[in-house]
Amino acid sequence: MKLKEHAQLVATLRLKSGLHIGTGEKVERGEPLHVIESMRTRLPYIPGSSLKGKMRCLLELSYGRKERDPKDDGSPCWCGRCQICLLFGSGSTKQTFEPTRLIFRDCYLTEPFVTLLEKIELEEKPGVRIDRETGKAAKGALFPMKRVPEGCEFKIEISVRIFDKDDKEAIKEWLAMGLFLIEQDAIGGSGTRGSGYVEFDDINFDGVAFGEEWRKNCKKNKDELLNTQIKSEK
Ligand SMILES: [Zn+2]
Repeated sequence: MKLKEHAQLVATLRLKSGLHIGTGEKVERGEPLHVIESMRTRLPYIPGSSLKGKMRCLLELSYGRKERDPKDDGSPCWCGRCQICLLFGSGSTKQTFEPTRLIFRDCYLTEPFVTLLEKIELEEKPGVRIDRETGKAAKGALFPMKRVPEGCEFKIEISVRIFDKDDKEAIKEWLAMGLFLIEQDAIGGSGTRGSGYVEFDDINFDGVAFGEEWRKNCKKNKDELLNTQIKSEK
């Protein structure tokens, strides 16, 4: 197989709620959990792996996994042949037959929000659990966390390797569905408790803007997408 070209998907990711992408570092009790930030600028960013992992997970939850690690229920598909493995890579190196199509770049703040976050502190969300007996807040029961405030915008970029037998339009449909599913879900930590609600704007794939109707089309094509083959077998 021959690599024909790279197609780019670019978009703006806007936070509709605060975003917490943690570092996994332990903190002292009462101290807020940190967010991941650039070593150079000390500004928060969204690792490509966060977006890639979430998109893959939501597509697998929607369309299923062909094969997975029998010792790990949570592992990604590792069949190496399904549409999701072709796009995101096989979960197992032994079951890898061809190169991964999608390359997710790390996402950085757009210029106006670089300026803003250089001036203001990240927000700090308190961690509170409701006491089941009294129905009141039991203080200090959960860790407080730092969040990138809602309204902030990041530039996202996904580079797509297009091989000679690949169908660029089909890949675009899979990517659109991935973005659509993320908008209805969340990224980062505490997604089921309000954080990480995002929206994508000004989406452009291979130099062409997504139409106004893209969300409506994703909703309509939800069931048919599984029949959309990104590679022809000819
Ligand atoms: Zn697979």
